[in-house]
Amino acid sequence: LPQKHSATGTTIFTVMSALAQQHNAINLSQGFPDFHIDERLASALGRAAADGYNQYAPMAGLPLLRQAIAESFQKRYNVTVDPDTEVTITPGATYAIYTAFTAILSPGDEVIVLEPAYDSYIPNIEMNGARAICIPLSAPSFSVDWQRVRNAITPRTRAIIVNTPHNPTGAIWTINDWNMLADAVRDTDIIVLSDEVYEQLVYDDRQHISVLQHPELRARSFALYSFGKVYNNTGWKMGYCIAPPALTTAFRRIHQFLCFTVNTPAQYALAQHLAHATEPIHSIMQRKRDHFLSLMAHTPFTLHTPAQGSYFQVMSYERISDMHDKQFAEWLTKEYGVATIPVSAFYSSGHDDRLIRFCFAKKEETLEQAVERLKNVP
Ligand code: PMP
Ligand code: GLN
Repeated sequence: LPQKHSATGTTIFTVMSALAQQHNAINLSQGFPDFHIDERLASALGRAAADGYNQYAPMAGLPLLRQAIAESFQKRYNVTVDPDTEVTITPGATYAIYTAFTAILSPGDEVIVLEPAYDSYIPNIEMNGARAICIPLSAPSFSVDWQRVRNAITPRTRAIIVNTPHNPTGAIWTINDWNMLADAVRDTDIIVLSDEVYEQLVYDDRQHISVLQHPELRARSFALYSFGKVYNNTGWKMGYCIAPPALTTAFRRIHQFLCFTVNTPAQYALAQHLAHATEPIHSIMQRKRDHFLSLMAHTPFTLHTPAQGSYFQVMSYERISDMHDKQFAEWLTKEYGVATIPVSAFYSSGHDDRLIRFCFAKKEETLEQAVERLKNVP
């Protein structure tokens, strides 16, 4: 059978979650909350099905949900989004990223990827016959080396994919990063894919800056979102894409023949839930991050920078071992019963800074039990 991409083997999230299960370990590897969703959202889903909203929704998504998304962006970012021509509902952000790539890439194109990078980006680029040009972010702050980005641009560069707040490092972009990106792509046809799935998870009074708030970049960007990260329902696999009308048209041209339309009762439930007042998810998650970090101070793991955003905290095990990170993560799961993600899994080259990623989107008691185990690590 043809090899459609260069990533051999199985995604690290499947590998580590399976290993956690096999060894009865506490799973701080794959990013998903282990607590219940808002009861009102759960009952809205049941009600939508009982009320008969069970047939195909329109191809672009339920107008009610697209309208609610547009209102939310107006309110939260002061940006005007046209729900008819700029918003498309998708079965999750992973799908939206793939669809955006497929809408714009031709064989031989190049796409700039900043590493560490979410593990679907490069396979998605390669499935479209294009090539990823990888540029490492600079540890320990994981900032972008803009000179290297500018040097990587060639006449074949079709796109760049960026991610803020960032998985796995928790770094977030400032307005300066967006301005530097705008400078780098100004005289090119490069399209920006802006993965903003953790937009609502930023800490210490920081603000997420969306590509949609940068008018010059917005005109050439797909912005990709996931409801899973906002409502703690990653298993619903619901997301959306916001892009200017011409890019949205190209996106829907692919979407209509990939899955055509998305789960109808889930769209109804989310549309209703968007209007509800709830405690901001960043406050809930920041308490978890802070609790996790104060507990981890009693272990031999070392912290470079507290996560500015996302579900994740990267830590070093330099005081414990000089094993490779994949080997270390496996050992920690088997011997100490805590599963994490080795950060080298986010590099195409296998680049290994001896870092592992913890997911803190968990019940307090889960975090406490995990740290009790980690305290035993010599
Ligand atoms: N992008 C990043 C950076 C992610 O961490 C994830 C995983 N949650 C996704 C995209 C995919 O989101 P979804 O589950 O909605 O497909
Ligand atoms: N985004 C989540 C993570 O980084 C998991 C997504 C997945 O399992 N593919 O852990």
